[in-house]
Amino acid sequence: MELERERIVARLAQYVNLPSGSYDLPGLAAFTAQVESDMCALGFAVTRHSAPGVGDTLECVYGDGEDTLLLLGHMDTVFPRAESQPFCDLGGDEVTGSGVMDMKGGLLIMQTALADVLPDLPKTARVVCVLNADEEIGSGTSSALITEWAKKSFACLVFEPMRESGALVRQRKGVISFRVRCTGIRGHAGSAYLRSASAIQQLCAVVGELYALRDDARQISVNVGVISGGTAENVVCDETSALAEVRFFNPAYGEEILGKLHAICEKPGVPGTATELTVNASHPPFMATEKSLRLLALAQEVAREQGIELPAEDTGGAGDVSFASLAGVAALDGFGLRGFGAHTTKERGVLSSFAQNAKLSAALMRALIDNPDAVR
Ligand SMILES: [Zn+2]
Repeated sequence: MELERERIVARLAQYVNLPSGSYDLPGLAAFTAQVESDMCALGFAVTRHSAPGVGDTLECVYGDGEDTLLLLGHMDTVFPRAESQPFCDLGGDEVTGSGVMDMKGGLLIMQTALADVLPDLPKTARVVCVLNADEEIGSGTSSALITEWAKKSFACLVFEPMRESGALVRQRKGVISFRVRCTGIRGHAGSAYLRSASAIQQLCAVVGELYALRDDARQISVNVGVISGGTAENVVCDETSALAEVRFFNPAYGEEILGKLHAICEKPGVPGTATELTVNASHPPFMATEKSLRLLALAQEVAREQGIELPAEDTGGAGDVSFASLAGVAALDGFGLRGFGAHTTKERGVLSSFAQNAKLSAALMRALIDNPDAVR
């Protein structure tokens, strides 16, 4: 396995320095071409699924055996070009740069493990990697392909970042992301006050009710992340909108939350205003299943053989592992680069976790391929 520090740093630098924020189509095109060429070099047959407006998904297939092992990763980051930070080796065990842990490091760990595993892959096996470019915006164009392969696979490993503590991901929250748009009647706040209707007043009422959906006991969170609208303090506002999300672990809450969102937005509000709800592409929760827990136990056993105690944690961050798990396959996440500060401009990766997780995931892939029934 190629695990020299210099080589790892060079590869991380190459990936991070091809900025690929969601919707940055030229950036995504360049980065996707690089990943595609790397996957082809490993011997994968790569099919591109074009998704206008968000960038292509790569479907990479190696071998044609019956026992399919599915690997997932995303090529987009949350950083628009102007915010994207270049790669920097901070010396010691830390590196920084936009997407280094989430999840360009994970893509490279996956490839490093594959380079070790593929040359002696048994004829009975097939490895499929689905690498998308819209994960950070809900995987609206790629989730169907993930689900399709998950249904045909016996196990699914996801290379999102390892938790800061060095843990794998046991469960992820699901998210319902949405936009609320309120319209009203614009007018002079002095001379036309009685004939006007404030969209801002209505949105504020809605926002208050949204936050009332928060339920710490059931681990339901609410966040209104963006509010925009209005022109001046002496103008009654006629249009405003908010971008918001609700997160939860229990998939059973999804319907209930959606119902409440509709009820809040559909009931009569400030006279003269109207409210419109648009639900965006979102990830369902990843809840531990009997199969995923067996896969976790196997991963922990493999880690122990390498002298590593491997814990697992729950996180509020959503991800594509949910689609795979919902399709019924044994799925586990967090095999990527350990780090901290994901989604911030101070993102850091812990370099030593690269070799650790490449060795761990290679050994786990071998164990799975040798005995698919262990998690089927
Ligand atoms: Zn990610």
